[in-house]
Amino acid sequence: MGQRAVVELKGHVRGEVIFPEEERYEEARKVYNAMIDKRPAAIVRCTGVADVIAAVKAARADGLTISVRGGGHSVPGFGTADDALVVDLGRMKGIRVDPAAKMVRAEGGCTWGDFNHATYAFGLATTGGVVSTTGIGGLTLGGGMGYLCRRAGLSIDSLRSADVVLADGTFVTGSETEHPDLFWALRGGGGNFGIVTSLEYRLHPVRDIVACAMFFEVEDAVQVMRAHDAYLTNAPRELYALFVWLLAPPLPFIPEDRHGDPLCALVLCWSGPPDQADRAFAPLRQVAQVGEFTAPMPYPTLNTLFDAFNPPGLQQYWKAVLAKDLSGGAIEAHMAHGPKVSNLSSMAIFPINGAVHDVAPDATAFGHRDAKYSVVISGAWPDPKDNDANIGWVRDYYQALAPHSDEGAYINFVPGDEGDRVQANYGRNYERLRKLKAKFDPGNVFRHNQNILPLG
Ligand SMILES: Cc1cc2nc3c(=O)[nH]c(=O)nc-3n(C[C@H](O)[C@H](O)[C@H](O)COP(=O)(O)OP(=O)(O)OC[C@H]3O[C@@H](n4cnc5c(N)ncnc54)[C@H](O)[C@@H]3O)c2cc1C
Repeated sequence: MGQRAVVELKGHVRGEVIFPEEERYEEARKVYNAMIDKRPAAIVRCTGVADVIAAVKAARADGLTISVRGGGHSVPGFGTADDALVVDLGRMKGIRVDPAAKMVRAEGGCTWGDFNHATYAFGLATTGGVVSTTGIGGLTLGGGMGYLCRRAGLSIDSLRSADVVLADGTFVTGSETEHPDLFWALRGGGGNFGIVTSLEYRLHPVRDIVACAMFFEVEDAVQVMRAHDAYLTNAPRELYALFVWLLAPPLPFIPEDRHGDPLCALVLCWSGPPDQADRAFAPLRQVAQVGEFTAPMPYPTLNTLFDAFNPPGLQQYWKAVLAKDLSGGAIEAHMAHGPKVSNLSSMAIFPINGAVHDVAPDATAFGHRDAKYSVVISGAWPDPKDNDANIGWVRDYYQALAPHSDEGAYINFVPGDEGDRVQANYGRNYERLRKLKAKFDPGNVFRHNQNILPLG
């Protein structure tokens, strides 16, 4: 085995190092998407920054690439790779909330469930994902979209600093004042620049919210999309509303004989004063509904409502677009392909206007501040025998939508097979990102991601 340093890593870390000849390797190499079947050289489950530094140095000494795993949710499976050293942060879950300063520092292995649990105790939150099992690391470094983004911006817009282990094993903090160029690149540049061991965020007063899910007939979807689009343009920023295609879930507020039928839905979060929720939802209640659920609940509870529909172990293939508006052509594409949704697949339109647009397009590496929508077509199904049909649905839907969309897409929603689109996915900031990649990771040690090639 030509991996002396990685073999010796066992003596230099507090966490576990797992090799292919061990029984537990099979479980340890799995990621969220069951379609990903990679055999890394070893997996190191780090317990802290010292372990991460030791792991990076060992990988470098042995000439291995590094695959970073936080929550493991990357659909292209970037949290693992053949012959790489997987640096698994899943055990690094330390969180410290400073309620007086409305700040939190969370380690890179936290999920949004961990994070929201800790900050809710103080009536505070920041923009995170809509599923609680997604990692804060991968989601934030790509931008971060969720229920609070019209009010608080993307996750990166609340990021104040990040501790990072760079490709040469050195440890730095990125912030507006320390290594500001690195800090700029981390906010939208994905995992290209180093291993982020902890992230510090500004928090916003959010405790209990009013959640609402409205389900509509396929034939009413055009009206629902138009109402959603018109209202979301200037709706209060405390309102978030996802438009979704899905098969009707077996929930008590949907008639039993409709369970499993393709429907469209609006999923709403109102984080303003609870007694104003009805008024905020009213413009979206104009179309007849198949069923509705509305209830006040803690913000972290809303963050878990979709967990059951997004279990690990399914086959997954996603594609995505961004759009400045909802054109007639886009509506036609949605109507042609949305009702063909099957299994646990879905299509979701995430609004990214409001506070997201308050930040200048070149202030962070996230290059798409002019888009109103981030659209994701998420294929998810249990049986690998059905891969062609389900991947086909995602690709056909994407092909129909792409001519009515902007160039590029959100890097956290795109698959691993669109190398030709990487530049467009990073958008206007790509050249600057390439220069910074050359500065911080010239050897492209961190290449298992939506990869930015170092310039020169
Ligand atoms: C069910 C589901 C729901 C989702 N919902 C949303 C959503 O609401 N909003 C949204 O914006 N996105 C969402 N996403 C997409 C999500 O942002 C990406 O999948 C993201 O990569 C997940 O981060 P992770 O840490 O769990 O992934 P991992 O697979 O652990 O990491 C993916 C990659 O991110 C980088 N990375 C992760 N952590 C670090 C770190 N600490 N340091 C350096 N690099 C790191 C690495 O390149 C790594 O390979 C969702 C994904 C899934 C599967």
